[in-house]
Amino acid sequence: MEKKRYERPTVIRQHSGFMNKFGSKQIASAVREIEGIPVSYLLEKFGSPLFVISENKIRENQRKMNRIFKTRYPRVQFAWSYKTNYLDAVCSVFHSEGSWAEVVSGFEYDKARALGVRGEYIIFNGPDKSRSALERAINESAKIHIDHFDELYDIIEIAGILGKKAKVAIRVNMDTGIYPKWDRFGFNYENGEAWQAIKRIISSKEMDLVGLHTHIGTYMMSADAYKVAASKLAALATSIKSEYGILLDYIDMGGGFPSNNTLNGQYLPAEQVLPSPEEFAEAISSGLFEMHFRPDELPMLILESGRALIDDAAHLLSTVLAVKRLSNGKRALIIDAGLNLLFTKLWYKHRISPAQESGLFTEDVAIYGPLCMNIDCIAESITLPVLKKGDKVVIDYVGAYDMTQWLQFIHMRPNIVMIMKDGSVEIIRKEENLEYIKQQEILPESLKFTLK
Ligand SMILES: *Cc1c(COP(=O)(O)O)cnc(C)c1O
Repeated sequence: MEKKRYERPTVIRQHSGFMNKFGSKQIASAVREIEGIPVSYLLEKFGSPLFVISENKIRENQRKMNRIFKTRYPRVQFAWSYKTNYLDAVCSVFHSEGSWAEVVSGFEYDKARALGVRGEYIIFNGPDKSRSALERAINESAKIHIDHFDELYDIIEIAGILGKKAKVAIRVNMDTGIYPKWDRFGFNYENGEAWQAIKRIISSKEMDLVGLHTHIGTYMMSADAYKVAASKLAALATSIKSEYGILLDYIDMGGGFPSNNTLNGQYLPAEQVLPSPEEFAEAISSGLFEMHFRPDELPMLILESGRALIDDAAHLLSTVLAVKRLSNGKRALIIDAGLNLLFTKLWYKHRISPAQESGLFTEDVAIYGPLCMNIDCIAESITLPVLKKGDKVVIDYVGAYDMTQWLQFIHMRPNIVMIMKDGSVEIIRKEENLEYIKQQEILPESLKFTLK
């Protein structure tokens, strides 16, 4: 029989059921499998840590969102926000559900094109579009959403040289009652800048004004804000029609719907405090119907929802490396997934569950990642059964932004697998290795030496 390890006794106050300063307790039950596949098998086969993404869940999320919007507005088109998760496999699932691509850099634009998305189905947003990216986008009839006047003048110049009309919309920022305002992007509605940009575009022969765009924020907790935004864009579209007789192809309401991930400092679980997708859809469509156009004149509604469609479709599996006591007696776990893989920890209190049945006793623990940095803390205080070295945990809501904002810092990035709709498991991004890092490095000849 294995000899029990000695651990110095500590006395810890137990409090059950009450709210504490970290919110109400959610005692996690064990998550032993993901879509029927044992967590232990996945980790054994593909290594730890491991990101696991569900194809079925992505499809289910997208179909549900399509249904919710299409029952409220006649023409709806989704465009997948690449920066939220631009893995080829993930984007391909969205595209196969009919979504266009929404990109915010030349790199993302090229990635969408390499996946086979035609230019006309790419929405090109963002404050930084290089000259070469703009050339490509104009040539390929992508929908360019102009962010500022300098970009507008660049487009006039480039389109003039190419002899091709650019398909453009403007991004509009406005007061939606949510502060701080996201007024660094696009043209302001209230001060007349947006209308000025619209007039400039309509008077130029190098551009076709095809739409209006806004993206009012992210993880928005108010449906009313979308109603305000939609009414303001509807008012602009109405003026464009009455002053110039131009009917827009679309109004793009951006993304920003929250996922059910709970924010740091949020007391109740996200599901209990957030508006439902139906409320967002209702708010947007009622704002747009203020256009009072004939049904066949209504512009298409484009949505660029990111986190709400992917966050719950991915899990991060991780292994307990060590258990220790902090100087105040509190138990701490060190796991092999840290802030390098869970950048969104800075905003969220992720749900973390043990992956095996443990005893009935629970304890408030702190969870740290493997980095040699004090800020590498995954949970300051979370109630978990008593875990030991080698045990596994499952971290939920990691589909949005974690696989794009992750850091290659101290550790390489791990494998990412997708559970396919037929139940098979495929690696969709291989773990990085030294070779991968060295591939980009160049050691000047004069610095080469051998340690003797
Ligand atoms: C990031 C971004 C999105 C997606 O935002 P979510 O909050 O993830 O829905 C959509 N549109 C634009 C312009 C963005 O920058």
